[in-house]
Order: sequence, then structure tokens, then C-alpha cells
Amino acid sequence: MKKQRIILIVGARPNFMKSAPLMRSLLSNKDLFDTKLIHTGQHYDHALSQLFFDELKMPKPDVYLGVGSASHAEQTAKIMIELEKSFTELKPDLVMVFGDINSTLAAAIVAAKMCIKLAHVEAGLRSFDHTMPEEINRIVTDRLSDYLFVSEESGLQNLKNEGVPDSKIFYTGNIMIDSLVANLEVASQSDILDRLSLEPDNYITMTMHRPANVDSENKLKELFSSITEISKEIPIVFPCHPRTKQRLKDFGINENDNSHGLKLIEPLGYLDFLKLQSKSKCVLTDSGGVQEETTFLQIPCITMRENTERPSTVEIGSNLVIGVDPQVIQETTLDSIRGNAKVGNIPKLWDGNTADRIVDIMRKQL
Ligand code: UDP
Repeated sequence: MKKQRIILIVGARPNFMKSAPLMRSLLSNKDLFDTKLIHTGQHYDHALSQLFFDELKMPKPDVYLGVGSASHAEQTAKIMIELEKSFTELKPDLVMVFGDINSTLAAAIVAAKMCIKLAHVEAGLRSFDHTMPEEINRIVTDRLSDYLFVSEESGLQNLKNEGVPDSKIFYTGNIMIDSLVANLEVASQSDILDRLSLEPDNYITMTMHRPANVDSENKLKELFSSITEISKEIPIVFPCHPRTKQRLKDFGINENDNSHGLKLIEPLGYLDFLKLQSKSKCVLTDSGGVQEETTFLQIPCITMRENTERPSTVEIGSNLVIGVDPQVIQETTLDSIRGNAKVGNIPKLWDGNTADRIVDIMRKQL
């Protein structure tokens, strides 16, 4: 039988953790699959992207598009133009996309129009909030996909409700957790706690970069003042996304004010960040992936958003989605560190073997 050519599309931080385990599993089936990797370069920091590739032992991309950041329409369009050329040249039998970034959407549209089979890993997640750009990417990508690999139970129901036939849907578990399981031991060697003078179980890790939280001056000022208040009780480490850093500057919020216990630092590599999360008393976030990682690590997570597309992290895991009222954030976080933290379990098939399950299915389907 002819080998099937599969192209994986990656572009930004959360994609690297989702694609690395699948790349590894596909490459160990070289007799069946001819696997190629396209990196769109939508990630903001080339050096950091390289660090993720090295840490996750990803092969060098076969194609690097280097599109860089731009408005949503411009970035998506640039990626589409370049991918059409790459797909014409490489003639894939299947394109695999991950999560909900603009590269995912762009690749889905191009593949569908070129009648190339499309697989979406992390299908079916819905926040039901159309003001979130990622939600648009999720809906369109799922609508166009031939194989939908679902990470949590809610995804099955959402796709069913949208009329996706059962034959296209596969509950394979959470692929991000594959990367976590594969790297936790190596990450435990990281000296990030020493470098930041932190004691295990005595600090909060924080991430914040969603437009809804950082693009409005008033909202960001409010959030920042409540975070500063919390940091008077317990150190907070905040690896600051460039988008957030830019907004702090734009709005004249002093991002260098490391008084009290707030430590604003540059974004970290995956291994350092994993170690930081795994030893935290609690995590404050608006990130999707971090809600899942804390659920697996069974670290209390407080999510500063009105909704989540990952409800199993709340229904089963250690996540509390509490909205963005600064008073509520402050009270809930202080309550959590003072002994009332949420305890959770781990959802079904978040076990480190998702990539192998996906490849088994591809073997049978292609
Ligand atoms: N992460 C990282 N370094 C950091 C912050 C986060 O490696 O400084 C990792 C984190 O462990 C998770 C992923 O980045 O695997 C989440 O990415 P992000 O918050 O950008 O995306 P989202 O999940 O919200 O789409």
C-alpha cells in the first residue's frame, strides 16, 4: 500500500505541545506514513519557538513560513496564501491541525478547498463566546474536518449538537497531557525555583494574555491592582506574554514594579514553566492549556474568565472559573491559599497515550 503523506501544521506556543507527541508517534510508523511538518511562524518569538522545539524534541520543520504577527485577517490570509503553495507542492493525503489558533483555521480552509482530508486534534471544545477569536477558529475548523479527535466529554456532546456524524468523531483524550507526562521528570530537574528565589508550595504562578483581559485599560488596571494586593500575602510569578507586556506599557501600568511579591518575568520555556506550575500553591490564569495542565497536576487553578471551553477542568478537575471581578479574584485566591483550595480528579484518557490512540485510528482509516 502507498505510504500516506501527512502534514502537521503548527504555529504558536500551545501547538508545539499538542503536535510533538503525534509527530513522535507518526515517525515511529515510517512504513505507513510519510510525515511532514509545516511551521507557519505565527509565534511571536523565534528564539522561544526554537527552545520549545528543542525541549519537545521536535524535528526541524520541513517548511517554515515565517508569517509573524499581524491583525487576525492579515495573518490568516498570509498563512492561507503560503499553505496553498506548500500543499500544491507536497500533495498531502491528510492535513492535521491542532487547537484553535489562526494557523489552524487557515490550514483547515485551504485543505478543505483543495479537497485534502483534514483532521482536527482537540476538536469540539466550545466556550459559546463568539467574542473570543479562538471560538471562531474552533467552529470553522470542526465544520470542515473529516476526523475530529476529542479531548474531553463536552466535545462529544457539542459536536453531536452541531450535527457532526458519529463516524467522524473519536474520543482519544488530551494530547497536551501526553507532552506533560513525557516531560515531567526532565522538568523536575529545572532550577527555575532557585533562579527566582521561590520555595515550593509557597508562591502563585500566573499567566494572562486573553484580549478580553488585557486590551481594555480599565480592566487591566483593575486586574493588576487585585494581583498586586494578593502579592502582598504570597509571591506571584508572572511570565508575561508580549501582548500583555505591550498593553502594560501602552496603559502606563508600571510593569517593572516588582515591589511586594509580584515578579514579572519573560515567558518561560516549557520545562521551566512545567516545574513552576507543578510546585505552585495555586495558579491564576486565563490560558486554556494551563487549566488542563493544572487539572492533571492536581494543582488548584483559578481562571480569570467568564467561561471555559474546557468544562471538565471544572466539573472533574481542580479549576474554578470565577470571572474577572477584581474583588472576587482577590477573595477566591486568598481563600484558596489559606486552605480552601479546590481538589480535583483527572478526566478519562488524560493519560499520556493520546497520540498513539490517534495514530491507531489513522492507520485503520487511511
Ligand atoms: N507555557 C510556557 N511558558 C510560559 C507560559 C505558558 O511554556 O511562560 C505553556 C503552558 O505550559 C501551556 C501553554 O504554554 O502548555 C499554553 O499556552 P498559551 O497560554 O499561550 O495558550 P492557550 O492554551 O491559552 O491557547
